[in-house]
Amino acid sequence: MLDVSQLRKVYGPDPNAPPAVADLSFTVAEQEFVCILGSSGCGKSTMLRCLSGLDSPTAGEVRLRDRRVTKPPEEMAFVFQDYSRSLLPWMKVRRNVSFPLRYKGVGNRAADDATEEALDAVGLAGKGDLYPWQLSGGMQQRVAIARALAYKPRVLLMDEPFASVDAQTRTGLEDLLLDVWQRYEITVLFVTHDIDEAIYLADRVLVLRAPAQIRHSTTVPLARPRDQLTTKQQPEFGQLRAELFNALDAQPAPA
Ligand code: ADP
Ligand code: MG
Repeated sequence: MLDVSQLRKVYGPDPNAPPAVADLSFTVAEQEFVCILGSSGCGKSTMLRCLSGLDSPTAGEVRLRDRRVTKPPEEMAFVFQDYSRSLLPWMKVRRNVSFPLRYKGVGNRAADDATEEALDAVGLAGKGDLYPWQLSGGMQQRVAIARALAYKPRVLLMDEPFASVDAQTRTGLEDLLLDVWQRYEITVLFVTHDIDEAIYLADRVLVLRAPAQIRHSTTVPLARPRDQLTTKQQPEFGQLRAELFNALDAQPAPA
């Protein structure tokens, strides 16, 4: 589905400057849930921006269903960490969810239906007439997720989307995401720096080191549907946690 090969990104005009992403290669299968784990500053966001076509790589390429990505592909949606900046405060929740559909050329009726369905999927049915600032942080992030779902992407890229909500809201959002991932049959690439979150969500976890290169890759054999209590109590969960902790810890500090 997604094929990243020899991706390299250097910021600024000097091609010999230290790269933010260097020689990064991996593939993601259709409907796979891949988590990318890496310490702060190791190039995770840069990598995602290059994958989404929002930023152009210095070298290498990204292919989505065998087509080279040079601008944001129509079948891709993006959820950022900072929901307060991704929602438009002057638009009601409903409009925040539906406006990208107009750009996609979806008719009014179909856009309204997709919007209500997505709000319902994230547990915000009936909240369409509120403004973002009338909602809690967790609800605002659910609006951002609803917007991505209404868009009916084939691929969903998420950059530390739950990092700025409290722990309890976060586990709720993780379960919500797993539910909609399975129902909508999307491919998800999810960036986080939280080991437990990565294991809980993913089919496969990739560990990056600075500059973003795959340091470690592991498949997660835990059964689905997963459950915040029983899944995390399984011995395999603890083993994976130790394995990933070591993979992260062994990283050299960024220069
Ligand atoms: P992460 O998301 O893993 O925290 P980033 O991709 O944000 O990492 O950053 C990787 C490296 O690239 C860091 O050293 C950061 O300072 C640098 N960087 C990120 N964005 C820019 C930018 N727009 N211009 C210059 N350097 C940047
Ligand atoms: Mg980042």
